[in-house]
Amino acid sequence: MKHSLEKFNRLVDSLQELPTIGQKSATRLAYHMVMTDSFGALKIAHAIENALGSLRKCHSCGGMSEDELCYICSNEMRNHQLLCIVENAKDILTIEDNGLFDGRYFVLKDLKESTITHLKNMVESGIEEVIFALTPSIANDAVILLIEDKLQDVSLDFTRIAQGVPTGVSLENIDMLSLARALEDRVKV
Ligand SMILES: [Zn+2]
Repeated sequence: MKHSLEKFNRLVDSLQELPTIGQKSATRLAYHMVMTDSFGALKIAHAIENALGSLRKCHSCGGMSEDELCYICSNEMRNHQLLCIVENAKDILTIEDNGLFDGRYFVLKDLKESTITHLKNMVESGIEEVIFALTPSIANDAVILLIEDKLQDVSLDFTRIAQGVPTGVSLENIDMLSLARALEDRVKV
């Protein structure tokens, strides 16, 4: 049977491009939005538009923010001696969720000279310990060595989250307890 619901199908296709959404869920969601709760659907559309329009990267850490500085970087109560290096802005949300870390973050989006310089400036503002919360992998071992090398002029402790985190598993897929333990049991590098 051939559907001729062109616009509905386009909605299904768009939803299906989202992470964790398969075709069945996409169809269910689209049906719900269009047929069951069109007001709710408009609210979602509006929320997406608003979020897209106001979200940007924190000028300091590269995390998600709606202002020049994110709520973490602008919070004077946070520990300004600890800096946690993560791979992407979403990892900050994951670590914040477990509430065990009260330092600041740096999103290491690439290894360009400008990124390293930015990191160095941040570290030189009184950081005493740099914690690498990167997905354990051989490639990231090399990243850690490189960063350590680039920051060798600054007097710092370097640690990494404990090896309890399985190799190749990204932070968002680690259960909270393991992540909390990995942060607490961090080891010197
Ligand atoms: Zn920030």
